[in-house]
Amino acid sequence: MLKVENIDVYYGKVQALYDVCFEVGENEIVSIIGSNGAGKSTLMKTIMGVNKPAKGTIEFNGEQIGSVKTNLIVGKRLVYIPEGREVFPKMSVKDNLVMGAYSRKYSSAEMNRKLEEMFEIYPRLKERQSQLAGSMSGGEQQMLAIARGLMSEPKMVMYDEPSLGLSPLIVDEMFETIVKVKQTMKIPVVIVEQNAFMAMSISDRTYILENGHMKGSGASKELMDSPEIKKAYLGG
Ligand code: ATP
Repeated sequence: MLKVENIDVYYGKVQALYDVCFEVGENEIVSIIGSNGAGKSTLMKTIMGVNKPAKGTIEFNGEQIGSVKTNLIVGKRLVYIPEGREVFPKMSVKDNLVMGAYSRKYSSAEMNRKLEEMFEIYPRLKERQSQLAGSMSGGEQQMLAIARGLMSEPKMVMYDEPSLGLSPLIVDEMFETIVKVKQTMKIPVVIVEQNAFMAMSISDRTYILENGHMKGSGASKELMDSPEIKKAYLGG
């Protein structure tokens, strides 16, 4: 579905990514872990066309997108959910979701089917669909912002730090919904996380990015058993 090959990315003269390769297949969850400043967000933003690679190629769904503008990449139904996403606080939960489908011009039957799909993944949003979005808890608002992004029926979704700022209980729920997104929508999911344990626990494969270099990748289960990975990323 996505193939990033040998990309270099610079901010001015400063190089942020070095010869990075990264691949996502159909219907898999892939995580990217690495410490602060490793280049995780840079990689996401480059895939979304915000940064242009100085070298290398990016292919999504059979098309080269390395020099395509962000709005056109979004039009190819690649959805990126950045950190710190926000809802429209003065609108109801349901209207927030409807806004997310704006670009798709659904019939009312399609809209209802899509809403039901979101309510299946996020049952709490169903209970609260008439409530003003701004009156929900922070964690619920984050779930709503994500669900709104999913209303456009993406072909693939990439989450940037979905657990950031959430209490431990809500973190568990957030990761459960990520697995449900893959199962219900049958699309591949990428998660970029500093919470390496959670990310590796729910993903099929993991990539390790450090100082702009891909340091390794493999089946998440196997990596979690490696003493080196345990020591460096999973708190021993
Ligand atoms: P974090 O989890 O802290 O966001 P990250 O792994 O996502 O870290 P990036 O934000 O991709 O890391 O940053 C990678 C490197 O690129 C860092 O050294 C950062 O300072 C630099 N960088 C990021 N954005 C810019 C920018 N707009 N201009 C200049 N340098 C930048």
